[in-house]
Parts: sequence; structure tokens; C-alpha cells
Amino acid sequence: MNYIEEIKNNLDIIEIISNYIDLKQTGNNFRARCPFHNEKTASFMVSREKQIFHCFGCDKGGDVISFLQEYEGISFNEALKILAEKANIVLPEYSGKRKEDYSRIYEINKLATEFYKKKLTENKEISKKVLEYLTKRKITLESIRKWQLGLSGEFWDELYNYLKNKKYQEEEVLKAGLILKKRDGKGYVDRFRKRLMFPLMDTQGRVVAFTSRTLSGIVYDEEERGGKYVNSPQTVIYDKSKILYGWCLTKNFIRQKKYIIIVEGNMDAIVVSQTKTNNVVAVSGTALTTDQIKLIKRYTENIIFAFDGDNAGSRAVFRGISLGWKEEMNLKVLVLPKGKDPAELIKENKDNWYKLLKNSLPVMDYYFQRILAGVDLSRADHKKIAVQKLLPIVKFLKNSIEQIHYLKILSNKLDIPLNILEKDLENTKSFLDNKQNNNSIYNDKRKEINRSLIEKILSISFFKKEFLEKLIADIELDMIIEPWKSLYEKIIIYYTKYQNLNNFIDKAELNEEERKTWIELSILGEKDNINITDKDLQNNWELLIKKLKKDYLDNQRDKLIKELKQAEISHKKELENKLVHKINLINNKIQKV
Ligand SMILES: [Zn+2]
Repeated sequence: MNYIEEIKNNLDIIEIISNYIDLKQTGNNFRARCPFHNEKTASFMVSREKQIFHCFGCDKGGDVISFLQEYEGISFNEALKILAEKANIVLPEYSGKRKEDYSRIYEINKLATEFYKKKLTENKEISKKVLEYLTKRKITLESIRKWQLGLSGEFWDELYNYLKNKKYQEEEVLKAGLILKKRDGKGYVDRFRKRLMFPLMDTQGRVVAFTSRTLSGIVYDEEERGGKYVNSPQTVIYDKSKILYGWCLTKNFIRQKKYIIIVEGNMDAIVVSQTKTNNVVAVSGTALTTDQIKLIKRYTENIIFAFDGDNAGSRAVFRGISLGWKEEMNLKVLVLPKGKDPAELIKENKDNWYKLLKNSLPVMDYYFQRILAGVDLSRADHKKIAVQKLLPIVKFLKNSIEQIHYLKILSNKLDIPLNILEKDLENTKSFLDNKQNNNSIYNDKRKEINRSLIEKILSISFFKKEFLEKLIADIELDMIIEPWKSLYEKIIIYYTKYQNLNNFIDKAELNEEERKTWIELSILGEKDNINITDKDLQNNWELLIKKLKKDYLDNQRDKLIKELKQAEISHKKELENKLVHKINLINNKIQKV
């Protein structure tokens, strides 16, 4: 047994989750109103037997570790650490290497934050001017405190000396990214000087880095050499692809409101957070990364980008948007009036901001509007370019109904027959090179029909061992289609080896999709079958299995009939005979089912 299993075996998911939310017991099941989405009925279920949870409302699910990750917004290792303590288990050091202790680097960043904060609030001419500036930008004193804004020193070594007096070594301060080596190589200088300071915090609220804004032209007259914004470098505790400005201050609002607003500037995030729409973070000038999207996804799947009209069409933003699409997020764009940022807009009139937010467009509609706006309908080359730009995006949509919806819009707007666009779409590559075949519509239908059938069968098998044994004995692997097939295969292997499914979730090396399916169907099994008598369950089971077998055979027969037609056309008599024989065999089998 590895230590993850050991920790889980020493804990009860019911007890752990009960520390966070109010679980009500019905039979063997525990239910609650889901903490991850807003709801009136309890669709959140926990299984004591399988030590997993699943919400039928928002589709979140997992084991005790994923619950903690999700609820606290922390990483797998962080959750594991907390649970290990509760289970009284000492976690092994990874691969014999002692994990480096970065606590002093965190301390240095914390002290620097305090230093900058103090500078901003001390009663001096400079700090007064900076506060005036912030007030003019409509940043309240409460926000200054909450977001821990600060002011860096006027001289080249103020912070450096301060930290040295606190007994920190220069290597440590260098490692924290707060000082730079002097050009002549002798000694160090502060990285930040005469700047407005914005601390960046990790998901646990620890300051890990800073971004800063120049004050030249505002407080100081001199020209700024470093540029408008200067940021901490990447350090051992700061990975910029993982941090969202404001996240740990606003994450709970994001969860409550079920969407996140992403703005570009730090000050925009602060000003927006002072309104009713406090579920906001900032990405400063960079594209959203996959790590950031995954972090957001733990809280919500709905993102609204509030970007300046020009930037919304930029490559960086488009990259972020396509990553969001890949993660199947719902993305909207709020287009700001040219040259305005959210802070200015709110300063003028809050209601305008709310109105724009309400009118934000699904990303696809936004791109359509944007690209079509520039098209001169009297020019063929314009139409061609618009189609070339939009079809790869349409192609990316997974849903064929959505695809048709946008093709129709395109057809109307550009006055191009729909069938031509459909044909073009077939030959278009998705801009993300998504695997998609032309049979997708047909396959989707087939899957829909099979979905409920296979899901019902599997959920009963996960509910009671006797059905699982019947399933394995009676149903060949090929009868279960993807995406359930690979899970079923692992179940067969696991069950054959252990004669049970204990610790299946940890030991079977499931991929994300298999794991999700296993959890969802296990909980579904308990939910649907707990109040059903053994006899009824048995009857249901037999009906479902019959249907599955018949469906499988029908499918096989359809394929053979297609082949037969081909053989007839190409006059392959021998093959024809063989196929007719096979079809007859299948017909016999269908009769027997
Ligand atoms: Zn939920």
C-alpha cells in the first residue's frame, strides 16, 4: 500500500467533508447542497463505501483529496499534507532528496511588503502625493489596505539595508528577486525604487513577488529608466504562469457568483473589486496560461474577459481564449469602449460597467462580429478571407448543432449557400487541430443511444458485486464502446486480480476521464438503486443486458450489410457469399437474444 492509499484508508470522507458542509444521511448515502455551485436541492452526494463524492448539478466529483483541493483551492500536494496530518501519517520525502526550505524567502517577501506599506502610509510629502493619486483613481483606503499596496524607497538601497538589519543574507534577498547586482559587480541595489508596489500572492495568500508601476510624471519629475511596469523575476517561490492578481482575495466571490471577470490591469482589478462585481482578477499584459485556467476551473467554468477593443483581438488574448476552449470553459468577451479601461468606466458611471458586463458576448459571437464588421460584401476577396478566418474556429466547436448555427449566420451574412460552407468546413482544419472526423454526427447519435444503456449497466455493476461478476462473465470488451471501454477494460483486469474494487481509484492508474466516469457512475449506482428491491434490480439488469447485446449485434449486422453492398457493386461473388453467411449467423444470434 502506498502512502496515499494509507492516508485515505485512515480517514473517512464523510467525516472530512462534514467539517466543511452539512451532510444529511439517507440510507447509505450522504447528501448536501453542493458547495461548488449554487443550488436549492441537494445534488451533491458522498459514498461512504467507495469514499468518493459527485455532484449531479455541476458534475464535480472525486475522492477526499480532490474535495479538499477543490474546496480550499489548493494543490494536490498541499491537500495531501493536510490530510496526512489528520491521518497521523508522516509523508515520505520525495526521492530521498530533502525538500528545500523556502520559508525564509517567503519571510523576506512578507517583510518587504510591510516595508513598502509603511512607506506609503508614513506622513511624508511623497506618500501623500501617491495617496492623492490613488484617490483620484478611485482606489479606496480600504482597498489600499486589503490589497496591501505600497511604495518603494527613494534611494538605491533602502529595502536592502532594511533586510540586512533583519539579518537576512544578500544571497537570500537576491533569491527573493528584490535586489540586483550592481553594474560594476560590487554590491547590490534594490530592484524597485520610487514605484507604486503591488504584492502578488499565491493561492494561500502568501506574498511571492511584486509588480510595480512607475510614479514618474505623477509624483516624481524624472524620467523612468525601467519602464512603466517592473516585475519581480521568476524565483523559487514565484512562477508567473500560475499566479492571477487578486485571486486569493476574490476567489470566494468567484465561487459564489459562478463566474470570473478577467481584466488587464492591476488597478482595474482593484477598482472593479470595489463594486458589486468583486469576482475579478487581473492578468497583467500576458496571455492566460493553462495553469491559470485550471486554477479557475476549480471554482467556475465561466470567464468574462473585460478587454480593450484592440487587445481583445490580439494574439495573446486569442491564445488565452483558445486554451480556455480546450479546457471547455464558457468564455465571454466584454468589449470596452476604445481607449477606456474598466477603472475609468466605473469612475464615470458604475451602471455603464454593469450594462456592458450584462451585454458581454460569447467569444464566438464576438469573433464573428469583429471579423464580419470589416468585410465589404461587394468584394469576393473580402468574403474569402472572412471564411478562411472563421471556419477553423467553427470547426473547433465540438457540437454539430453549434457548428450549423454559426455556418448559417455566415451563410446569411456573406450570402454564400450553406451547402458550400458545409463542404468547406469538411476540408477545414480546426485551429487547434482538434481530432474530429466527418462521421462525428453519426457517431454522436450512436453514442447518445448507447450512453444511457451502458451507463445504467455499469452503475448497477458498481453498486453490487454480483452484477459486476455477471457483467465480466457475460459482456465482452468489444460490446462496450468508448469512452467506457477503456474503463471497463481496467475494471476487468483489476477485478480479476483482486476479486474486489477496493482502492480501484488509486491503484488502477485511471486517466482523468476514466476516473471521472468511475466516480460518477458509482455514485449514480447508489443514488438510483438504493430503494429498489433485489428482484426489481435483477429484472432491470436482464432487460438492460438484452438491449445491449441486441444493439451490439444490430450494429455488427449494419456493418456487414454495408460491406455486402460494396461486394455486390464490385461483383465479388465469393465475398458476397461469405458475408451473407455471416449476416445469417448474426440474425440467428439476434433471435436468441
Ligand atoms: Zn455542484
